[in-house]
Amino acid sequence: MSQLGAAPETVAVDVAPDPVIELREVTREYRVGDDIVVRALRRVSLRIERGDYVAIMGSSGSGKSTLMHIVGCLDSPTSGRYLLDGADVHDIHEDDLADLRNRKIGFVFQAFNLVPRTSALANVELPLTYAGLQRADRRRRALAALDAVGMGDRIHHQPSKLSGGQQQRVAVARAIVTNPSIILADEPTGNLDSHSTHEVLDVFARLNDAGRTVVMITHEEDVAERAARVIRLGDGEILSDVRT
Ligand code: ADP
Ligand code: MG
Repeated sequence: MSQLGAAPETVAVDVAPDPVIELREVTREYRVGDDIVVRALRRVSLRIERGDYVAIMGSSGSGKSTLMHIVGCLDSPTSGRYLLDGADVHDIHEDDLADLRNRKIGFVFQAFNLVPRTSALANVELPLTYAGLQRADRRRRALAALDAVGMGDRIHHQPSKLSGGQQQRVAVARAIVTNPSIILADEPTGNLDSHSTHEVLDVFARLNDAGRTVVMITHEEDVAERAARVIRLGDGEILSDVRT
């Protein structure tokens, strides 16, 4: 009797935490012209647990952006499976997928991609306009997001009046204003000087401390050092995967 009672507990201890991101033998091929196939990812298997902070490194052309596009549901594998929060993305209807992406994932890009001649506040409100929120709610949440990245005192500035680091912090505010559980960043500090780089990395660290999963692509070793886990890609394959 006591042995039977003990068994489930043993099982529970052995089970790994649920991954929020799971790739199973994901291959992504691009067909170029009639007879050339570029294999950007080759049977990549990867699990990322909720709340982790992962840096993806690798030389140019190693497949980093392709990986991020698949993780962000902006692209699909040629073969293999991608499970987001345990659900196979392949089985999700396109409309639901866009909705899922907007709710769960915040994107940050190297080039900031802010709308020019538009205030920081309006830029950050934009994703909420798509989400159909009331004006007062939009404003409240956008102000909170700008506060969270230390830009609460520049909400009426247009991008051209902000430094690169400030623009990227506005872009991070835009990424988090929908309260996504995952932040995906593709070379977010690639255009920044070292001071701005550290400002943006401090913001990522705080977001991660608050429980968000952060996946960040970078070329720079000192940037990757801020992550808890570093995955190196080469030629579409994982070369190493190290917890720091
Ligand atoms: P990284 O972000 O590490 O520089 P990418 O994921 O952008 O690498 O690219 C991986 C490989 O796939 C490269 O050889 C690249 O040329 C190729 N590739 C990426 N996107 C496309 C595309 N849309 N069409 C054809 N080839 C592509
Ligand atoms: Mg890239």
